[in-house]
Amino acid sequence: MQISRRQAMWTGATVSTSAFLAAKHLLAQQNSDFQLRYMLASCMYGYTDVVEILPEVARSGASAIDLWPKVHGSQREQIDEMGESRFAALLRQWGVELGCLTQYKLGPFALQDEMRLAARLGCRTIVSGAKGPRGLQGKELKSAVSDFIEQMKPHLAVAEENGVTIAIENHANNLMESTEALKWFAEQRPSPHLAIALAPYHLPQDAELLANLIRDLGDSIAVFYAWQHGRGAVESLSPAEQRLQMPGRGELDFTPILAALHDVGYQGWTEIFMHPGKRGTPIMDSTAAVTDQINRSRDYLKQCLATVKEDPAAAKQARNNASEKGKEMDNQSELGQETIAGEYNRLNEKEAYVILHQGTEPPGPGGYTMTKDPGTYICRQCNAILYRSEDKFESHCGWPSFDDEIEGAVTRRRDPDGYRVEIICSNCGGHLGHVFQGEGFTAKNTRHCVNSISMRFIKKGGEIPPMIVKKKE
Ligand SMILES: [Zn+2]
Repeated sequence: MQISRRQAMWTGATVSTSAFLAAKHLLAQQNSDFQLRYMLASCMYGYTDVVEILPEVARSGASAIDLWPKVHGSQREQIDEMGESRFAALLRQWGVELGCLTQYKLGPFALQDEMRLAARLGCRTIVSGAKGPRGLQGKELKSAVSDFIEQMKPHLAVAEENGVTIAIENHANNLMESTEALKWFAEQRPSPHLAIALAPYHLPQDAELLANLIRDLGDSIAVFYAWQHGRGAVESLSPAEQRLQMPGRGELDFTPILAALHDVGYQGWTEIFMHPGKRGTPIMDSTAAVTDQINRSRDYLKQCLATVKEDPAAAKQARNNASEKGKEMDNQSELGQETIAGEYNRLNEKEAYVILHQGTEPPGPGGYTMTKDPGTYICRQCNAILYRSEDKFESHCGWPSFDDEIEGAVTRRRDPDGYRVEIICSNCGGHLGHVFQGEGFTAKNTRHCVNSISMRFIKKGGEIPPMIVKKKE
């Protein structure tokens, strides 16, 4: 606690030793007591019924829910359909606080009714976006931020009446698009009822820069999105690549960021977050799987926080817990394979010939051609799960043959020879072999003819390594 220690020293210089010790004791206590207060974003579950999401609040270590409207979620609209009193009863039933109403669509100047609804439901935070010119710097930016704050003042009066804070999220292509804009905003903020919802996703992915920003913004932050850019929230990316937005999956180190939140004594909400490429859809196939992903990130953040608090025992426990959970998730669902950002596995000359240069290994009974053990075949280059042993059959062609692939794992493309269909790993693009139809070997009438060398076999019960998503060039 750099700043606080300095404060304690100033205190020590001017007042008695006992007051100094009391202050020091208080700081030590703050240091060990610091925790993140988690709020669950309803839109992580797409348009799922809010009745189904409320039990997930406690399961994800949160005490509150953030209700998102369409297009990201539909839970805000669901309140209107079921009526406020029914929703208030549900909150009581599940012991959940309504932490936030997120409302970008209405914009920052049309939140009056929303603030009144928030007050009736005991909710103290509303998130919206800024309005104003973009692409400014220096003095011009400062005065544009000042103009925006000026326009907010009548709305802040309503916020104050209703005991609500309006938190403005930083966003690309917006007045509040830069760290500089955020600093001007914090400096000129006229009331505790106006605050910042900090989204690292929209800022440079530099942990130290973000940590310094948090120290500059201090108590101006009301909502912190535990959310990194990863590869972005783009529909064309694979689900695994989209999940690189989650803490612990992409490359951003959250330890310095949590150290900064810890140092400023952050009291606001923390929301573990990502946007799916297709807005309004859940980030995973089932409600339980969404919560698992959130908990995986929460374990990672727990580890970071234990490092910050210099508590090695807690750090180790969080790490073990996280890896146990990772293994469980591998076993639960093959499609929920763990993902890490990094460099692909190194290939030897023979592997590179087949995988990178579309080579074909000689046919024969070697490799995995005759393998019948139960298990999973993964990509040699990136570990992506490709085939299940249940789909393997004996074709006597001299290469391993499968009549089905793991959904989405294999991409087909016309071979350079013009008539065969090449199959490649959907994640890394490595060459696997060819796929043939209509030969009548099995009921599915499909034969994936795969080079053994393009795969690695993991026997049932063995540990499937995480899929490697390549670092940005
Ligand atoms: Zn691959």
